[in-house]
Amino acid sequence: KEQGNETEHVYDSQCPFCSVQCKMQLIESRSGNRRRYKTIGKANPTSNGRLCIKGMHAHQHALHKERLTQPMIKSDGQFVPISWAEALDYIKENITELQQKYGYDAMSVYGSASITNEEAYLMGKFARVALKTKYIDYNGRLCMSAAASAATLTLGIDRGMTNGLQEIPEAECLILAGTNIGECQPTLMPYFEQAKKNGAFIIAVDPRETSTTKLANLHLQLKPGTDAALYNGILHVIFQEDLIDSEFLTTSANGYEEVKQWVLSLELTEISAITGVSERDIRRAATEFATPKTGMIFSARGVEQQTDGSISVRNLLNILLATGKFGKHACGYGAITGQSNGQGAREHGQKADQLPGYRSIENLEDRKYIANVWGISEEELPRKGVSAFEMIEKIDAGEIKGMFLLCSNPVVSNPNAHFVKAALAKLSFLVAVDLFLSETAKLADLILPSTSYLEDEGTMTNFEGRVTVRKAMMKPLGEAKHDWQILCLIAETLGAGHLFSFNSAEEIFNELRVASRGGKADYYGMSYSRLHENEGLLWPCPNEGHSGTNRLFEEGFAHTDRKAKMVVVPNKPEVAKEKTCPKYPLYLTTGRVMSHYLTGVQTRKSSSLEARNFESYVEIHPETAMRYNVKDQKLVKIESKRGSIIVRSKITKAIRKDTLFVPFHWDEGQNVNRLVAADLDPTCRMPSFKVSAVKLTLV
Ligand code: SF4
Repeated sequence: KEQGNETEHVYDSQCPFCSVQCKMQLIESRSGNRRRYKTIGKANPTSNGRLCIKGMHAHQHALHKERLTQPMIKSDGQFVPISWAEALDYIKENITELQQKYGYDAMSVYGSASITNEEAYLMGKFARVALKTKYIDYNGRLCMSAAASAATLTLGIDRGMTNGLQEIPEAECLILAGTNIGECQPTLMPYFEQAKKNGAFIIAVDPRETSTTKLANLHLQLKPGTDAALYNGILHVIFQEDLIDSEFLTTSANGYEEVKQWVLSLELTEISAITGVSERDIRRAATEFATPKTGMIFSARGVEQQTDGSISVRNLLNILLATGKFGKHACGYGAITGQSNGQGAREHGQKADQLPGYRSIENLEDRKYIANVWGISEEELPRKGVSAFEMIEKIDAGEIKGMFLLCSNPVVSNPNAHFVKAALAKLSFLVAVDLFLSETAKLADLILPSTSYLEDEGTMTNFEGRVTVRKAMMKPLGEAKHDWQILCLIAETLGAGHLFSFNSAEEIFNELRVASRGGKADYYGMSYSRLHENEGLLWPCPNEGHSGTNRLFEEGFAHTDRKAKMVVVPNKPEVAKEKTCPKYPLYLTTGRVMSHYLTGVQTRKSSSLEARNFESYVEIHPETAMRYNVKDQKLVKIESKRGSIIVRSKITKAIRKDTLFVPFHWDEGQNVNRLVAADLDPTCRMPSFKVSAVKLTLV
């Protein structure tokens, strides 16, 4: 469009900051050498043209002057620019030397859930085929692993939403368990607001009062770490008052007799004492959810990031099964993913134990199938590795010597962050691919510049399971390359180029489709042209005539007998959570703010977002603040067994008196993960971010 001396260019894109994947347009106005930018929402079936503050300012980091634009090598502690050819030679020399000396597993790969499906797929293949290592995992381990394992074990399949998003406003009751949608996925809130207008009863479970809990009719402000017990209390009432769907349980679920026997043996007074939630509220929640015919449950990291996160989510699924709320309209479960491709990035083989299409790396048939797609023998395919944090433990122990790190910042995102930083500093060779010099990238021997969401094409899968194509709108900045190009170049350097001869994201997608064929996350029927025509398709989509699957489990669950597996959930976890004590008398819980994403590497580069939240803070209840003589807006020290941080106080009744809340988007002395214990869920290896014991002192 031309107006006077100004020309306007409009680019279609997609927000890179959360799993709603809002569609948007970047508008560039050019006048002479001057450029001005703004981002607006674009109509689509998920966010209907809405954007939150992060989406509106996403272009600010992508166009930022501090973007990395050429490879850099560390020399005498300083980063020095080098050419791609020199960088590739350096990689070959170091990886070859390490693997000749210590074996293939001396190298590790740490991936991301913010990359495209094609790049996630290629990461799994790159680790196992080009590097020949079993050590690959990704930052989604810290995000989605509990919900993913719970859904897989109970339902037989792990897709973010079992039912379409459009069904939410028609549900009669909604449980929002440990999810702060109002702050983390704001463009989804209208679905819940509409449900409430339509008469739905909303129950929120959270130790904090948030913009999401304010929408609820009933807020269960439980003590941190007691989610599993609370859901046992709700199940107790459902079975005791015979609010179950007996026919559904008999035909569609195994294990319900054991669950019934267990929950009926519990005393509600005891559950109330454990959770801090009154018996009256537990009863109300149970009857409000179980009585109507329709109802949905959503969970997020508040429940999941604990040592019993996986089994707590299984208890939420027990509630849905006991009340027969699966495979029907306005029923079902949703795991609200945090990262932009939190769903897709876990489906295609970036996890230590999985191959593309949710295939198992320990299953012989699955191994043979994928080895064949990849052009190697089954014997050449490495076995199962370990989870993200466990890889770092192996680095600390000297077992892993090198790491290829893609678009992730483990020094800030992992628990016990001091330990993580010290461990990564021990690596003989660390290559980091990123947009900016993150706290982890600063430790690297070599940094490779990557492309932003405006430059990189590929498919992404939103939290519903909807796959769409994100188009590239701009040329790569400087010498930056797409993640998939970097992986192909290194594979070629290491002698595996013939298995990585891709010229576009679409070519990779076409191999991914074959790799996923017949697996649980089946993309075979999708093609770029079909995805463009349909504004995305929901998997499974097994053939080109298939229109995708909006609602799962209409014909039974995804286990071989078509039945779901209910499981007894203990009130106390197998791996104990940290408890308060006289030295560390307060609980600490962590979470997000609306203006930042993950460890803030991108959003802290945006002047508009940084202006809204330029530093971290701690929420303290007024009575707690009085006890510690803390005034509002003062610097305070928070300390656990593992370290301390200094942040500004925010006195608010939104938090429990026994709990502090600190967001996790800042590095160095404000990094709350320095305080968090590295206790892992025994099922999914999720760290316990949501429950730590700390003390509070004045600075
Ligand atoms: Fe949409 Fe999420 Fe981006 Fe906000 S952060 S604009 S809700 S995709």
